[in-house]
Amino acid sequence: MNNISFIHDKFAEFYKENASMIKPPSNISKREFGFFTFKENVVIRHKSFLNVEDLRNYVKQLVPSHAYYSAAYYEMPEESMEKKGWLGADLYFDIDADHIPTKCRKIHDTWTCKKCGFQGRGVAPNECPICGGKGFEERKWPCEICLESAKYEAMKLLDFLIDDFGFSPHEIQVSFSGHRGYHIHVENEKIRELDSSARKEIVDYITGTGLDPAYHGLQGTPHGRRVTSGPDMDEPGWRGRIARGTHEFLLSATKEDLEELGLRKKIINEIISRREEILKSWEKEGPWSLIRGAGVEAWKRIIRKAIESQSARIDTVVTTDIHRLIRLPNTLHGKTGWLKIPLSANEIEEFDPLSSAIAFKKGEVTIYVKEAPEFRIGEETFGPYRDIKVELPMAAAIFLLCKDAAEVAD
Ligand SMILES: [Zn+2]
Ligand SMILES: [Zn+2]
Repeated sequence: MNNISFIHDKFAEFYKENASMIKPPSNISKREFGFFTFKENVVIRHKSFLNVEDLRNYVKQLVPSHAYYSAAYYEMPEESMEKKGWLGADLYFDIDADHIPTKCRKIHDTWTCKKCGFQGRGVAPNECPICGGKGFEERKWPCEICLESAKYEAMKLLDFLIDDFGFSPHEIQVSFSGHRGYHIHVENEKIRELDSSARKEIVDYITGTGLDPAYHGLQGTPHGRRVTSGPDMDEPGWRGRIARGTHEFLLSATKEDLEELGLRKKIINEIISRREEILKSWEKEGPWSLIRGAGVEAWKRIIRKAIESQSARIDTVVTTDIHRLIRLPNTLHGKTGWLKIPLSANEIEEFDPLSSAIAFKKGEVTIYVKEAPEFRIGEETFGPYRDIKVELPMAAAIFLLCKDAAEVAD
């Protein structure tokens, strides 16, 4: 039996029993739905449903590899894009390990040149070093470190949405994406009709794009040679973030980190040798005038690191796309066999995707694994594997089959 038929049959069994869990979006009849199928590998778009029963029955019958709905509301969701009649869209954020430069990516992510078959690790290059080809097959691995970093970014994003934008936690739904990240969905009438450029402003705020510390409390003497004041840690918005991020950075920065910023030797030595004093000064007036020789330009370089660590790494394209299709909660992700799991803002910290998003909890199957790094499902750890036939619990086997890292053994 080939992989795709095997996965399809397991997904079919799952939906037969669990389609009733599928969580519909609000205003279901105004949303567009889209699906990927296994066998013909086609995309079905411009679908709509009048009620959740129709949606669930459809999924049960189609058995999609991926199921999506629109963040947008339309007068006529089944029409072509131009005729749909856009009525607005929820505010949507995607946080994916793809956008987080974790070091482990170089170990567990692989790419293969489509033209010559040459393989490498990490992020695919622009051009194949062997044949110059530009197309790559990429395999990205949802490792624990990547998942934890994505969670951390999601929590920072929640702080922005609740503290800075003033959304209520009840208007915000957090979900595990079913693969390598988290989705955050805000439903509030006030933002529904924002166009793409207004959403870009929100994105810029959250990513700290175009932020000038001079407008956030960093002031110097006329020629910028000495800094006279800076933001405090307990201030709201980006002021406080700049101060807290700077504190964090100065607390742990190594000589190399400081050299990387292009700071002068004298300033670097000053920071390293008087670190404690500088950090202590925060309780009184802040460190801004304390580092001898550090003017506005030097502080701006340090603050750049603070902004980097305090901003949330979101996929900016997703938020500005007002026609975006997003994964349907409690459906299976075709690249993992895991579920997209909806949760509330205060559940995320304790959430363990590798237990909660696991769908296939019954049975075992023997597969032939080509290559897989170590991974965990629930309490159990598997692998690493290379060219080996193993009998695995269904969830672990489906995961490797979905990742195209294994084949069903005859
Ligand atoms: Zn090549
Ligand atoms: Zn990783």
